[in-house]
Amino acid sequence: MSAQTLDHLPPLQGCLYCHAEGSTTLVESRKVLGIGSDYPVLKCSHCKAVALLDVGAGGEDSWRIRYRRVPHTPRYFYLARHLGKAGWLSAEKALAISTDGYVQRTRVQQARQGDLVWLQPVRLDPPPPLMRTDETVYLTLRAVSFQQAPPQTVFTRPEHGDVLDSGKLYVTNQKLHLLGQRQDWSHRLSDIQRVDYGNEYWIVFINAGSQMQKYRGMHMDGQLDPQLITTIIEALWRLSQMRSEPSTSFDVLPE
Ligand SMILES: [Zn+2]
Repeated sequence: MSAQTLDHLPPLQGCLYCHAEGSTTLVESRKVLGIGSDYPVLKCSHCKAVALLDVGAGGEDSWRIRYRRVPHTPRYFYLARHLGKAGWLSAEKALAISTDGYVQRTRVQQARQGDLVWLQPVRLDPPPPLMRTDETVYLTLRAVSFQQAPPQTVFTRPEHGDVLDSGKLYVTNQKLHLLGQRQDWSHRLSDIQRVDYGNEYWIVFINAGSQMQKYRGMHMDGQLDPQLITTIIEALWRLSQMRSEPSTSFDVLPE
């Protein structure tokens, strides 16, 4: 296929990674001494992502893409995880991930600005034990563990800490409620000290008097990703702070 006939392919119309339009170009791969790739290289001038593009021979939908180098900033958390490390992806799969990544990025931006309406928060009737009737549930997270949090050092791995309980965690506009296997636990949003996340986990650190405790969940299919979960909890914390101290302003975190 000539370069001209490829222009209509989605990866050449817009970048699947950063979603800038008209920022991608296809260049022949350089093969030095027989080493290199047979596939042309797709480069984005906006986000600097680099991918191999196999344009295939079976028509418009037969292309495949494999990302070789991608930006890893928080803005692209979801796409780095799903597009950047995926190896060869079919057109259908790559486009689906790209769309999901766009939605996820938008949700993170909304949450940072305090817009959580899209979560469609609900009041539970009747509410579970310890939850008040005027609390609104924003997140319901399965398989969450409640742990002691040993002092953080460079050697402390996120999974460290004695497990106190595990169960389903409700995050409301006022509190965190864990329906544990041993008992029910509740913490005010104002007890949150900080949040943390990685590719496979999210953590909410709780001030518990002289020591620290934490709620910890693993990434699960069909559940929001760790970055979005912690961004939402952070937003609820900020909103609750504003309610309790109306004069306090907060800064929207930079991306
Ligand atoms: Zn890009």
